[in-house]
Amino acid sequence: KDNKLDQIIKTIDENDIKFLKLQFSDIHGLPKSMAVPLKKAADVEDIVNDGLLFDGSSVAGLASINDSDLLAKPDINTFSMIPWRPEAKGTSRFICDIFTTDGKPYDGDPRGVLKKSLQLAEKRGYQFNMGPEPEFFIIKKDEDGHYIPADEAEYFDVEPLDQGTDIRREIVLGLEKLDFDVEVSHHEVAAGQHEVDFKYADALKTADAVITFKEAVKALVNNLGFKATFMPKPFLGINGSGMHCNQSLFKNGENIFYDPDTETQISQEALYFIGGLLKHAPALSSILSPTVNSYKRLVPGYEAPCYIAYGFKNRSTLLRIPASRGLGTRIECRSADPSCNPYLAFAVLLEAGLDGMDNKIDPGEPTEENLFAFSEDELVEKGISSLPTSLWEAYHALEEDEVVKNAIGEKVFNQFYNIKRAEWDAYRIQVFDYERDEYLDV
Ligand code: GLN
Ligand code: MG
Ligand code: MG
Ligand code: MG
Repeated sequence: KDNKLDQIIKTIDENDIKFLKLQFSDIHGLPKSMAVPLKKAADVEDIVNDGLLFDGSSVAGLASINDSDLLAKPDINTFSMIPWRPEAKGTSRFICDIFTTDGKPYDGDPRGVLKKSLQLAEKRGYQFNMGPEPEFFIIKKDEDGHYIPADEAEYFDVEPLDQGTDIRREIVLGLEKLDFDVEVSHHEVAAGQHEVDFKYADALKTADAVITFKEAVKALVNNLGFKATFMPKPFLGINGSGMHCNQSLFKNGENIFYDPDTETQISQEALYFIGGLLKHAPALSSILSPTVNSYKRLVPGYEAPCYIAYGFKNRSTLLRIPASRGLGTRIECRSADPSCNPYLAFAVLLEAGLDGMDNKIDPGEPTEENLFAFSEDELVEKGISSLPTSLWEAYHALEEDEVVKNAIGEKVFNQFYNIKRAEWDAYRIQVFDYERDEYLDV
């Protein structure tokens, strides 16, 4: 540890870093930070050892007003420079864990929730890996001040149709300065939509990376005069933005979802893991698709799932097993969107999957037909049920699911449930133009 800290102090010294941000996430997965101006590089040592006190009650979903003193303590593995801040007297950051004032890990900290879940995997000898595929829109304002996609390009288009080429270039270069291993970036299906994928890693590192990724993309795109949005469905009639979650379990460096001796080369453990994900899918929705807007994405016809099923080459199912085998064998969950809190999302995916393995939950046969082409009768006949179609349905499903509730813990559950209920209540009393168009003449 000391060696690492010495390295950090050296980096701060050599790079003329003036500001150190201490960062953590609120219940929505939005980054929150305090910046400490460093008088000298060695000050970092005290900050790492002592942490910094803050008022937790002003952070969404973190703490109540009558018990609000919390301590943010840096995880020294998360040190990095902030490339979108000025280089002279630059800015660096740590991601922090949150503790109570008597030094115990705080049970309302989303990062702590994921750490707790990962310990369950570790106890079984597993490392939980995650590779996310976050999608987002680059948008601008038209003459009337309405947001519109910044270009008209389609899937894999190139410049000049793709107006995002230069923007993605800046994003990728910025991410590399943040030590991201970017694998591919491309224009997505919808106008103004993009995807940047980075290499899978253990779920804690990946969750930190998702938070950093969104922050970096928003900041870098903003610096170029556009706006980036991770809203799941910003525009009617075109694809929304997902964040597919590619999951695998490793044991002693081997991927246990891979089994060269079965017909599909998928292991029995992977099938049980899928069984758990399918069983808990309704409650998982509340965490993976956590906004009112998330459910406008999960409708037929836009490559986003609506039905609780799994398949191999099938992109209409909730879960998919992509073609790669060996170390790359994985289960892709397609319902998650980038408005989710990655710490909570990865925790509930893991615990739902482990529940499937512990209880040998049979996922049934895979579905290889296009689910969007099935009639309601056919779906009933095949025993395929729908994902929740609204936030209301999803948070009620969460209330009923002990495994998923337990994965986020009582404190986070209560905060999350109350916040989501308030979000739904605020939404359901709105009256939209659409309704006046439809109903004025009734
Ligand atoms: N944008 C789609 C979604 O909402 C995914 C499309 C794709 O990655 N091919 O999940
Ligand atoms: Mg992709
Ligand atoms: Mg995509
Ligand atoms: Mg995908």
